[in-house]
Amino acid sequence: MKRSILILMSVFSLSLSAQDLYLHCGKIVDTENGNVLNQKTIVVSGKKITSILEGYVEAKNPKDNVVDLKSSTVMPGLIDLHVHMESEYSPKKYMERFTANDADVAFKSVNFARVTLMAGFTTVRDLGGSGVNIALRNAINQGYILGPRIFTAGKAIATTGGHADPTNGMKKLLMGDPGPEQGVVNSPDDAKKAVRQRYKNGADNIKITATGGVLSVAKNGQNPQFTLEEIQAICATAKDYGMIVAAHAHGDEGMQRAVVGGVTTIEHGTKMSVQTMDLMKQYGTYLVPTITAGKAVADNAKIKGFYPEIIVPKALEIGPKIQNTFAKAYKRGVNIAFGTDAGVFPHGLNAKEFGYMVEVGMPPMEALQSATVTNAKVLGLSDQLGQLKAGYLADIVATNEDPTKNIATLENIIFVMKEGVIYKN
Ligand SMILES: [Zn+2]
Repeated sequence: MKRSILILMSVFSLSLSAQDLYLHCGKIVDTENGNVLNQKTIVVSGKKITSILEGYVEAKNPKDNVVDLKSSTVMPGLIDLHVHMESEYSPKKYMERFTANDADVAFKSVNFARVTLMAGFTTVRDLGGSGVNIALRNAINQGYILGPRIFTAGKAIATTGGHADPTNGMKKLLMGDPGPEQGVVNSPDDAKKAVRQRYKNGADNIKITATGGVLSVAKNGQNPQFTLEEIQAICATAKDYGMIVAAHAHGDEGMQRAVVGGVTTIEHGTKMSVQTMDLMKQYGTYLVPTITAGKAVADNAKIKGFYPEIIVPKALEIGPKIQNTFAKAYKRGVNIAFGTDAGVFPHGLNAKEFGYMVEVGMPPMEALQSATVTNAKVLGLSDQLGQLKAGYLADIVATNEDPTKNIATLENIIFVMKEGVIYKN
């Protein structure tokens, strides 16, 4: 009995390894060197790329499959470092805080995950939800549902009344007094505990709301909300647990504290001063622009009743500034990592961000590199993701046109492979 199972298993694995995929690619994007190359064959075996060959090479084994992408441009799977897989904004969103159970959130997130993968984003960093995002990651990894590879912060860490305090705007009885377990901190000790709790809950990284934000039910959208000591405690503890820290920040003072405190990425960066840009260069901090979200909140704020009243002036003031800040930071030489804040606008439209980056001065190839090689580096996965190279995970997407000639073609992904499995062709 045992022996027959063993034989069966070895036959199964043999047939798997014998069957390779040959992708005939008209053009491929070399994201490492910033070149577009012509006529290559990518050989995929199991979850990985095994080789990249000159020209269109025929399959060796009759069992091997050939995929014809001769009229396409092929590139590594795209990475978005700022999404919220649990939700999508609509006028109903604020009421759902009181009506939706975790299971309701989970069922919706299944669709958001599928749409994101089909848009060519094979990896995302989820920067905050209720914690359902951890179960979503697990369900995708275990093959129950389709979606991108998720690295999640679980629930973001805030201060009392801060941007990610989950009880903002509620009546006293419902407010209670959330603490580190719920991701609300008021001292360096609280901060350490909140990070350790995230780790225990299964988070992959940490998100803090270093300043006020647009979409929370609170008045100030940009004031500093953590002390430097709290941020330092968070970053040092996260480092001990092998996690990086992302800081949501619109105002300059809170942003500076986050950079000096040791975060890896600044999200949004709206009112970033030249001094802060130089500080980010000095500390090697990345800006994750989220221009698409900035434009979306400004547009939605003009629709009466879309957001609660307290949010409207913040959205109108902060939203439109993000693209301009990105342009200035890019020109000054700040490291740019790609991220959109999808969920603030509909999931699956992530690639609009490329157009907004290019519109204000970033060359298309650099925009593409920010979403591939750069983001892989931020995630500490430079040796597995972000490039088409032998030994790398077979996360591969394709477009009809060459995105370095027409950036908008990224909004129409025609082929998606994640870890060697084709999800769209
Ligand atoms: Zn966000």
